[in-house]
Amino acid sequence: MKPKEIHALRKALIDWYLVNQRDLPWRKVTDPYPIWVSEVMLQQTQVATVLPYYHEFLKRFPNLQKLARANFQQVLKAWEGLGYYARARNLHKAAGVVLNQHLGNIPQSRPDFRKLPGVGDYIAAAVLSIAFSKPYSVVDGNVKRVLSRLFIMDEPVNQSSAKKIYQQAAADLLDTQKPGTFNQALMELGAIVCKPRNPLCPACPVQTWCLAYQRDRISEFPRKLKKKATPQYPIAVGVVFKNSRVIITRRKPEGLLGGLWEFPGGKIKKNETAKAACIREIKEEVNLAVKVDSHLCMVKHAYTHFKIQMDVFCCSYISGRVKLTGPVDHRWIRLNQLDDYPLPKANHKFLAKLRQWKDKEFGSVKAEVGKERR
Ligand code: SF4
Repeated sequence: MKPKEIHALRKALIDWYLVNQRDLPWRKVTDPYPIWVSEVMLQQTQVATVLPYYHEFLKRFPNLQKLARANFQQVLKAWEGLGYYARARNLHKAAGVVLNQHLGNIPQSRPDFRKLPGVGDYIAAAVLSIAFSKPYSVVDGNVKRVLSRLFIMDEPVNQSSAKKIYQQAAADLLDTQKPGTFNQALMELGAIVCKPRNPLCPACPVQTWCLAYQRDRISEFPRKLKKKATPQYPIAVGVVFKNSRVIITRRKPEGLLGGLWEFPGGKIKKNETAKAACIREIKEEVNLAVKVDSHLCMVKHAYTHFKIQMDVFCCSYISGRVKLTGPVDHRWIRLNQLDDYPLPKANHKFLAKLRQWKDKEFGSVKAEVGKERR
């Protein structure tokens, strides 16, 4: 594309964005902290899902100092249900580093910002361009799709070796005078016009320069490598009652669902029944012998790279003192205290059923307390 055409494309895109952008709260602020929070939340997550979390998070942690000084469990609670909990862990850690090493000021230099926990190429480019007008181009899934169609790029968008090629294409197209607005415009175009299926080409501001459109080849782009089938794991989980309390355990801070609380359980082995796996897992994980009273339900849940099918059992404590293997902490709590703990979404999926079951088995909370005192 000739420089004149690139210039015209940039202008058309920005003009379109200024009129057609969605009304989103993080676009109304100049403070880098909420911009950073929004960009972290928006990674792998849709705008509609992020909105309530964004508002609530900023209500609880209105500035970087508050976030840095918060207890990690409070941060996880605010993130509960949003998924990809490493984002919350890293954001919390990064806020601490900014407070302690940068006097509370988010670094404007890319190398310094990039060193913070959880800050990769995307977050660095997005925050620095939007909050500080630094000339870095962002490349997310939306941007790759638009670029692949604009320039009929054959490199599969989900191939890691193609990352550099898309980054270069985005950098070449970037409006360095208005990098933040340009980046947001390109992402917005991908989100609301150049959609994965049925792009709204007649309403597209860059249609004149779009090779896929001009050559009637839109359905060929973006190219993608075929994904491997997602594995599914059978899991057994036990809600262990002792008097009217249940045991929950805390996962280690790093890794999948790091720091969240959950009911003990784990993978069902080959040729093992779900019930036997539940008893075995509880013994291995918390060193308790239990009896299974009933099968509460089966829950399905999908993570990024795998799915689980989880059989949930209600159990009674028989014997043993808690000794943890795997989890880093435990609590015996009443069911009505569960709201104080951040739990994975898969656990939330059966809580309503669990409360109904408990009410049927043990009666109301009042009756339960009375029973316990006797
Ligand atoms: S013309 Fe169509 S395919 Fe091309 S960038 Fe615009 S919306 Fe996407």
